[in-house]
Amino acid sequence: MLAFNTHKNHFDFLFLGMGAANSLVLIKLFEAGLLSGKTLAYIDPKPHLEGTYSNDKTFCFWATESELEFMGIGHLVSASWCKLEVSGNKKRISPYQYYHIRSEDLFRFTGEVIERLNVVRISDSVKSMDTSSYPHTVECSGGETLWAKEVFDSRPPEFEKLKAHQTHLNQSFYGWVVETEGDIFEQEVFTMMDFNVPQLNSTQFMYVLPFNGNTALIELTRFGVEVLKKEDANPILEDYIKGKFGAVKIIHQEQGVIPMSTATLPQSYLGRHVLRTGGRAGRIKPSTGYAFKEMVFDAARIAQNGSKNCFWGFHRKKGHQEGRFAFYDRLLLKVLEKYPSDGAKIFTQLFDRIEAPSILQFLEEKTRFNQEIPILMSLPKRPFIKAAIVDIKSRLLEGSKRNIAVFMSILIGVLYFFGQEIAAQGLLVVGLILVGIPHGALDHVLESRGKKPDFSFSFFAKYLGLMALMLGIWQLFAPLGLLLFLLFSAWHFGESDFKEIGLKASMSSFLWGIGLLAAILFTHLEELNIFLPHFKLNAFYIPNAFFGLNPIELGLMLLGLIIWVFSYANPVYAGLRKVLYILVIGCFLPLLVAFGLYFIGHHSVNGWGHLRKGLAYTNTDLWKTAWPFSLGAFALIGGFLWMSDSGVTAYWAQFFVFLSCVSFPHVWEMRKFYNAI
Ligand SMILES: Cc1cc2nc3c(=O)[nH]c(=O)nc-3n(C[C@H](O)[C@H](O)[C@H](O)COP(=O)(O)OP(=O)(O)OC[C@H]3O[C@@H](n4cnc5c(N)ncnc54)[C@H](O)[C@@H]3O)c2cc1C
Repeated sequence: MLAFNTHKNHFDFLFLGMGAANSLVLIKLFEAGLLSGKTLAYIDPKPHLEGTYSNDKTFCFWATESELEFMGIGHLVSASWCKLEVSGNKKRISPYQYYHIRSEDLFRFTGEVIERLNVVRISDSVKSMDTSSYPHTVECSGGETLWAKEVFDSRPPEFEKLKAHQTHLNQSFYGWVVETEGDIFEQEVFTMMDFNVPQLNSTQFMYVLPFNGNTALIELTRFGVEVLKKEDANPILEDYIKGKFGAVKIIHQEQGVIPMSTATLPQSYLGRHVLRTGGRAGRIKPSTGYAFKEMVFDAARIAQNGSKNCFWGFHRKKGHQEGRFAFYDRLLLKVLEKYPSDGAKIFTQLFDRIEAPSILQFLEEKTRFNQEIPILMSLPKRPFIKAAIVDIKSRLLEGSKRNIAVFMSILIGVLYFFGQEIAAQGLLVVGLILVGIPHGALDHVLESRGKKPDFSFSFFAKYLGLMALMLGIWQLFAPLGLLLFLLFSAWHFGESDFKEIGLKASMSSFLWGIGLLAAILFTHLEELNIFLPHFKLNAFYIPNAFFGLNPIELGLMLLGLIIWVFSYANPVYAGLRKVLYILVIGCFLPLLVAFGLYFIGHHSVNGWGHLRKGLAYTNTDLWKTAWPFSLGAFALIGGFLWMSDSGVTAYWAQFFVFLSCVSFPHVWEMRKFYNAI
């Protein structure tokens, strides 16, 4: 095998797509001196950086003088304005200026950097990327395979299916750069929105950028579900231009579509060496479609992190999907979707009542809450209140689905507190019947990814063989059986918890699994000690209690606290926090209940979700497919209960031996399934 970088398809840096976002990243990394001596390539099917630089976009943004200086792209600015106009209302925007960059100028500059650094262009599309090995592998549609140490992925965003509170609109536009006979444009004012055009059951307005006295870009823009068509836009543009500016000569056409979407963008962590950028990283503000300035700041941040040897960096700004600004975005888009003809009134009223710089600051998500109150109060109340009710209802439902394990743990904790143990245990049994057992009764459809149930002799022989192997180990040397059971359970729990937060199984997920099992077991040392002799092991020494908790319990809680704090610094692990809540509640409950909370409420519910997605099944499909084996498991458990006459703890110890035997082949099958999806 050739050493890395001596092969022509091995690169230190690989850019997937070289549009605006990755051009900016390339420029910033180059300026920070991080690319010298590196091998670089980009994959993009579009030839927009090859001698002729396409001018298919105009990138505009507002910024203060110091922001523009920080951005370091002042040399690319080709026009700027100090006033905006909304439906005839002209306003100063100081301390901001509105800046314009032609995509041709950005790409020419990128082209110069590409030439200086000898960046290889691969004229193709990315088909797939595999991050399970390092250097990562990228496969192109043309069949070529590339390897890279650092990947910057700016392919177009792939939104998830819309939930009730989410909206996906298109900001579509079509316009002309025109020349007039005389100087008729007011050079210091750009028209952000002029609603004096037919609305056609959407929100439509004119956007006018005068480049000088007799040249301007005049564009019809639509916020709506339907994309604006050229044939619909032409007559409106003609009427508007004729009425306002008279005869013109068209010198250039521009059209485009920007997604205005509050749909979820998959943001799973793909490792420290893959960075999403631009639209794919959620940089497009859903309610405005603006992204350029944020992409410049993002590129600068990436270069700053790169100087500290970690491009990924913990301190990357999130996209527009969380927090109160995401809430405002969702409301506005919902209102525009449900009541498109209200759009004109909403924006006109907003710019009538509020100073333009405050609105621009708000749209950049840089206002404080007290500054936002007058802005929110200036909007028509009814549609926004209706949208807020839809949003809150849908998110509560979503949240309760996502946090079902925590809710269940609190409920069971409360039932125990009030002495309602039977009710609490009953709830756990219901959970076990609904998902606990069935989630492990689908192994026969995993291989074919749900297409064909496997009832073959070889499947059963393999399955029963693994169960018998486990039973044999228990019979031969019980401590080894217990150790194996704990280790493969730790692997399996870690694998499924990491899958839930978008990470693959790894040594970290295994350590997480060991940690959570240790937390459950060592916070119930007294009960554990009752079981251990049944596995031919000595009881643990229990250190003196300290504030009611022994030092082991205290140590574990401290560790939990550290992980909890760490997950704030590294948002990738935030999804694991709810496991810590469950474990803490479990500390105050009996061992089996604590385990049940995690196993049923978290592990099985998540596993059920992974199966539903990976097999493309509905819940009913899953239950229907699982029933023969679920029924078998219930019969075995029933028989076990009936036959067991050797006292309570011995019975539970035997039950765990039985559980380890049936779960061994399940963990094996699930490992293959998780690797495949
Ligand atoms: C016409 C238009 C005007 C805009 N104007 C503004 C504006 O004025 N101000 C503002 O803030 N924002 C604006 N935006 C929004 C945003 O800034 C742009 O969409 C910006 O181009 C986003 O950058 P990007 O790199 O994420 O996407 P792009 O610039 O679209 O780059 C993505 C690149 O990936 C390539 N690609 C696609 N599929 C593959 C694949 N499978 N494999 C490899 N490469 C692939 C594409 O060819 C493309 O070159 C505008 C958007 C449009 C469409």
